[in-house]
Amino acid sequence: MLTKAQPDEMQSYLVDASNMAGGHAARVVWPESAAEVATLLLDASETCTPVTVAGAGTGIVGGRVPFGGIVLATDKLNHIGEIVKAADGGRAVVEAGVTLAEFRRAVEARGLFYPPDPTEWSCYMGGTVATNASGARTFKYGPTRRYVQRLKIALATGDVLDLKRGVIHADKNGRFSIPLARGRSIEAQLPTYHMPQTRKHVAGYFVAPEMDALDLFIGSEGTLGVITEIETSLLLKPAGVLSGVVFFKDEADLLAFVRAARELSLRTRADGRDDDVDARALEYFDDESLKFLRTHEPRVPVGAQGAIFFEQETTAETEEKLLTAWLALLEAHRALLDDSWFATDEKDQTRLREFRHQLPVLVNEWLTRHGQRKVSTDMAVPDDAFAGMLRFYQDTLRASRLQYVIFGHIGDNHVHVNILPRDDKEAAQARAIYGQFIERAVQLGGTISAEHGVGKLKRAYLRALYGGEHLRQMAALKHAFDPAGILGRGNIFSEELL
Ligand SMILES: Cc1cc2nc3c(=O)[nH]c(=O)nc-3n(C[C@H](O)[C@H](O)[C@H](O)COP(=O)(O)OP(=O)(O)OC[C@H]3O[C@@H](n4cnc5c(N)ncnc54)[C@H](O)[C@@H]3O)c2cc1C
Repeated sequence: MLTKAQPDEMQSYLVDASNMAGGHAARVVWPESAAEVATLLLDASETCTPVTVAGAGTGIVGGRVPFGGIVLATDKLNHIGEIVKAADGGRAVVEAGVTLAEFRRAVEARGLFYPPDPTEWSCYMGGTVATNASGARTFKYGPTRRYVQRLKIALATGDVLDLKRGVIHADKNGRFSIPLARGRSIEAQLPTYHMPQTRKHVAGYFVAPEMDALDLFIGSEGTLGVITEIETSLLLKPAGVLSGVVFFKDEADLLAFVRAARELSLRTRADGRDDDVDARALEYFDDESLKFLRTHEPRVPVGAQGAIFFEQETTAETEEKLLTAWLALLEAHRALLDDSWFATDEKDQTRLREFRHQLPVLVNEWLTRHGQRKVSTDMAVPDDAFAGMLRFYQDTLRASRLQYVIFGHIGDNHVHVNILPRDDKEAAQARAIYGQFIERAVQLGGTISAEHGVGKLKRAYLRALYGGEHLRQMAALKHAFDPAGILGRGNIFSEELL
């Protein structure tokens, strides 16, 4: 097995996209099969050596940043297995170290579609399962969890689990019994908390009555086992897409439009129709985001207080009718129709996507100029609390006089607030405001993380959400799968609880 221990050879495995500092490890290893991973984990358990699992390192909460021990790199588990197409969709088998971009290319070449889209396509499939990644299309298609049908997982005990959806469930008392080889089994007890009733949530272990054992591993952030292989379900590739960037002069109109588009989409879906509004993405840009974007694209209308990017799938038969339905909905909510942009072909759609992706680029340039890091939120709240939460963000930030942008997945009541400090004093102020936002989201029944996870950076906020006793229950659950406490140490909860 390839192993490296020289500092310069390991450096890129000691960090992730969070820029968390201080990562260090004794060595990085590259196993090439589930059996090699299992042997390595058994050895590490026997010597109580911490193991941090590394995907592509695009995570933004420090999940793969190691603090001692071994980094287990999944780069060499990079084989795409069979892709099977059926009349109504398909399925594929893929190893953990295949990038999302490669996987998408392979399934699309077969006329198939894998919906999870966490923006950064260089992430690995194993990383997306370990974080239950989601993104703009989650509004229609849900997170990664919805597509995972089977996982091969190497455990810290040296066992390899091949777990299929629908086979093992928790009993009525939240107990799992997962059979292993040679007549042994893992007996585990689920924590007793209830997850927030938000459209998206990834903070802490997934817990639901009589849940599927597979769901425990999805979103477990490298703490319960090493995912080596994934079987996913696939959809048929949509024939066409209608998208638009639509501007509003009045924020109340924009919010009413989002509520109406969401309700209509859910109704169209429930009725199984394809000839009415059914957004797959509803994304928000606030007025501060538009100010940034205007420096890149002068056509952003001056009077606009906000914008929505939407996408809907079409066919040759439905395209015209759907465009008419969207225009009627937009007109009813006083969108600035003459100044808005629509796209039905690939070229124009690429332009709209580039416009959207320009915001993080402009924000990063701004931060580089000021030598600072952004303070970025990932909270979501229930439907009826969203307008109040957005107002709280805006009122607090306007009063603070800090620079900020608010944008993101408004269809799921999940927007990202990026606070942009100009100096260290403002950075401290931004962090204090972040704490206020967390407190308010929890009060409103929201989640502290809708898609990025807890990692090492958001542990204190998970405690604010669930409390100390529930963190202890999570640690006890981990102990059932990883008795020596070697895997993903410091992720989700503090090492002291192990
Ligand atoms: C610009 C940008 C935009 C992003 N946008 C989104 C977004 O819209 N939605 C979203 O959900 N995320 C987003 N992300 C976050 C990130 O892309 C996802 O979290 C991604 O799924 C992580 O995959 P990775 O392979 O990079 O994992 P890593 O960063 O390497 O690891 C993430 C965590 O998973 C664990 N892990 C990795 N592989 C395995 C495995 N095989 N078995 C067990 N544990 C494992 C690691 O230990 C770590 O705890 C964004 C990131 C960037 C940089």
